[in-house]
Amino acid sequence: MAKKKYSRREFVKQNSLAGLGAAFTLGISPGIIAGTRSSAGTPAILGGQKIRTKGWPEWPVWNSSTDEASVLESLRSGVWSRAGVVNEFEKKWAETIGSKRCLATVNGTNALIAALAQFDIGGGDEVIVPPYTFIATVQAVLMNGAMPVFVDTDPETFQIDPEKIEAKITPRTKAILPVHILGLPANMVRIMEIAKKHDLIVIEDACQAWMAEINHKKMGTFGDAGCFSFQNSKNLAIGEGGAIVSDNDDFMDRCYSYHNYGNPYGSVIGEVGAGTLMLGTKLRTTEYQAAIGLVQMERLGEETAKRSENAAYLKSQIRKIPGILPYELYGNVTMAAFHLFPFRYKKDAFKDLPRSGFLKALREEGIPASDGYRPLNKMPYLSHAFQTKNFKRMYSSRELDYNKYLENNHCPLNDRLCEEAVWFSQRMLLAEKSDMDDIAAAIEKIFRNAEAIKNKI
Ligand SMILES: *Cc1c(COP(=O)(O)O)cnc(C)c1O
Repeated sequence: MAKKKYSRREFVKQNSLAGLGAAFTLGISPGIIAGTRSSAGTPAILGGQKIRTKGWPEWPVWNSSTDEASVLESLRSGVWSRAGVVNEFEKKWAETIGSKRCLATVNGTNALIAALAQFDIGGGDEVIVPPYTFIATVQAVLMNGAMPVFVDTDPETFQIDPEKIEAKITPRTKAILPVHILGLPANMVRIMEIAKKHDLIVIEDACQAWMAEINHKKMGTFGDAGCFSFQNSKNLAIGEGGAIVSDNDDFMDRCYSYHNYGNPYGSVIGEVGAGTLMLGTKLRTTEYQAAIGLVQMERLGEETAKRSENAAYLKSQIRKIPGILPYELYGNVTMAAFHLFPFRYKKDAFKDLPRSGFLKALREEGIPASDGYRPLNKMPYLSHAFQTKNFKRMYSSRELDYNKYLENNHCPLNDRLCEEAVWFSQRMLLAEKSDMDDIAAAIEKIFRNAEAIKNKI
């Protein structure tokens, strides 16, 4: 996919060809652009014309010649269990993100479970996690028998607030599990300072942060280990797949052994003929999955740059609309992955039109959007975990007092964020820059007609 660079004049032309006014391009604030064809008129939800009738890029993408050839070659070799192609995938991913080692796993969830296990994090240990993440982050902690401790979110960045971590550290805290949620880097410089000071392990959940960087260093390489996901919706899509990266050879040898039933690997060696050495499971990925991953990896850099450019442009446009607060990046972020494009929707600026109505109106304009995560620090899976036989044997009844737990893990800013967040998916950011104007125009149209929409729905 060639990156298109428009001169200003060409860009204005492109816009008018697409039937869009040039007001956004000229940087006029939405408050005074009434009358542009783009956002004028009746909202689609009230029977007007849709801003956008054409679709958005599909996901995943593949190149029918190179990608299909690569998968076919793997298929026809008859070697489907892990061998040379998986080795090559691991080597290439480690090189791509600047880590010494990489181990491919069946998925990101089990990459996290394995990494926690191989740092010996288990019953009685506390692990600091954000509440604004995909469920797998927290399940990985519980699956090892450890206790998740939630630290509130910084609503501006959508990331764990590093300044609230220290207050949650106890003698039982063993690790911090920061997540670069939505593909936007968490503040790893601060988090590593805190971890060093308190002698804590750091495992990065980089399952949405392929190629994201702070000071040109890739996410997943700041902590003791980093975990990735290559699930179908992810920016590096294989179907199902994951990886652990680290510079720590002993740890990576243990992860390898664990992912292969605890059989000997590297420094995990016993007497000759001793057989299986460690507690382990089976997390091996297949050759044809790695074959898909290798060709996807070829495009990742270019796609990431495109998402990043489109995100910056979209942000610059929609931030002018009252009540729309797009994500902020920390100052040292040199690249974000934009698995999702997030902003906060302040309904008071939209005549109290509820977020659900805003989303519905947006979808009617041809702009798919979602409301994102629910607060993970207060869902039934936690109390279920506390009622299991294993947890009852590892923790006292006081520690498993669910109401007390809820109180200690209250994250008020995150609760609010979960009510205000709106996401666009990464695939929309693979459209052209002029397509971003459709999104901005749709939001602006809803802004102008918020009262009427609220009365209709
Ligand atoms: C996708 C994801 C995971 C889990 O990865 P899978 O490959 O789906 O198992 C973990 N954490 C985060 C933040 C994710 O987005």
